[in-house]
Amino acid sequence: MTTPQRELLADYGRRLLTDRLTTGTGGNLSVALRPEGLIAITPSGISYNEIKATDISLLDFDGRQLEGCPPSSEWHLHLAIYRARPEINAVVHTHSRFATTFALLHEPLPACHYLIGVAQSKEIRVAPYATFGTEELARKTVAALGQNDRCILMANHGLLAVGEDLSEAYNTALYIEEVAELYYRARSLGTPVLLSDAEMDEALIRFRSYGYKPETDDAK
Ligand code: 13P
Ligand code: ZN
Repeated sequence: MTTPQRELLADYGRRLLTDRLTTGTGGNLSVALRPEGLIAITPSGISYNEIKATDISLLDFDGRQLEGCPPSSEWHLHLAIYRARPEINAVVHTHSRFATTFALLHEPLPACHYLIGVAQSKEIRVAPYATFGTEELARKTVAALGQNDRCILMANHGLLAVGEDLSEAYNTALYIEEVAELYYRARSLGTPVLLSDAEMDEALIRFRSYGYKPETDDAK
């Protein structure tokens, strides 16, 4: 793993604080380096303002630590996602306030805004609770995420977003937090009008071709 790759992970950690997606040492980020058979993950319990590139923890796909500081306590969760979803190369876990508010209520985020579609689903479901840092939490969260969804609420805990790369996973976490805030505000004033299944289907189709997608070797 190169120094710029480690620095990118540390930079995104600092963005969690500036974007108000977490406080203190809450949340964690990782990327899978599949050709090298490695996972790079933020270290456990170090403030994002203090994480240096050399602190980033490197694990193999069996969970053995190879370099850096001790890995995030949620390394089981990150590893389980990479094992279950071969197309996923980045995981972002936050304790962002509005999404977590609904996670405390065990209430899914419904199709209240078309941006729910960034998660490639029509609602953001809630995965069952288990103690943080456990294999049980990893198992339950991966099962609830399924094979297609890109975001899920974690009961009494926070939010988890996954993507093909770090910017995709991070932006999903950011947008879903924004939708959660808007839904909270709308619920405070009245009864939000939800989008229909057909309207969400159309939005999901549009999302497939939305934004600049660099051509990969595979696509040539
Ligand atoms: P880590 O500091 O070990 O990553 O833990 C933070 C967290 O969010 C646990 O769920
Ligand atoms: Zn957490």
